[in-house]
Amino acid sequence: MTDIARGDVARGVVARGVVAKILPFSAVDGPGNRAVVFLQGCDFDCRYCHNPETRALCVHCGLCVPACPAGALSLEGGRVRWDAARCVSCGACIAACPHGSSPKAVSMTVAEVLSSIDRYKPFLSGVTVSGGECGLQPAFLEALLVEARAAGLPGLVDTNGSADFSSLPGVVAAAEGFMLDVKAWDETEHRALTGAPNRAVVANLRFLAAAGKLYEVRTVVVPGQFDAALTVRETARTLVAAGSGARYKIIRFRPQGVRAAWRGLPTPDDATMGALAAIALREGVREVVVV
Ligand code: SF4
Ligand code: SF4
Repeated sequence: MTDIARGDVARGVVARGVVAKILPFSAVDGPGNRAVVFLQGCDFDCRYCHNPETRALCVHCGLCVPACPAGALSLEGGRVRWDAARCVSCGACIAACPHGSSPKAVSMTVAEVLSSIDRYKPFLSGVTVSGGECGLQPAFLEALLVEARAAGLPGLVDTNGSADFSSLPGVVAAAEGFMLDVKAWDETEHRALTGAPNRAVVANLRFLAAAGKLYEVRTVVVPGQFDAALTVRETARTLVAAGSGARYKIIRFRPQGVRAAWRGLPTPDDATMGALAAIALREGVREVVVV
């Protein structure tokens, strides 16, 4: 039983969410071919974020408007408006925004989100809700998961783990599973990497693993920035202790698309990644993927 019942969305109980973008197809955001809904806004500021424009909600300052070469942006009544029909997806507005936002994030209902992917349904295994951080919009997240499931599209939640999912039983019940980032096990290192503590992340790891709701745990390896061996070992131990069959995806840092300060950092070599995978396997994780 979820907190939001079928039909609540239609009755307007859950109104809208702020959506950064929707990908109709992805083969890397969960099992099978999935639509991915990226919600706008994140409470972490990861130094290696590849979508830094999804961090903040737009404050309608208008600074991006003159940067648009296609006339797709305007400031009307103190709010920036984006004309999707004119947009040529050049990214100039995102580069011009000093707030970590995008003028292209839009307020949508659950019905509008599902309608936008409806024609792809025969080719989809499900929907993944990502971000930004989707846990910051829990009512919309739950409603989207409930309605997507009813439409035959089971939903996965891709999260940084900052929301307390043990206090969101409706989201947990409505989700097919969770993909959780464990960015660093050490609290100080996690703060340096993300600007935020990791207590909620570790609590979610334990809670979701014990609940049998974890599909995947991920760690991005950035040489010299945190103790990756400690992170992989402790994460793996936690999964195994909880009897979770979640797979552990260990991801190489890649500098493409990150902010300037981190573009010079190296990508970890095969030996480093292999050693980390060996730690997870030695601890008893059933499936380890290195990408
Ligand atoms: S991506 Fe932004 S700057 Fe480029 S055309 Fe679209 S709205 Fe304009
Ligand atoms: S996207 Fe950024 S620059 Fe453009 S109006 Fe919003 S906050 Fe200002």
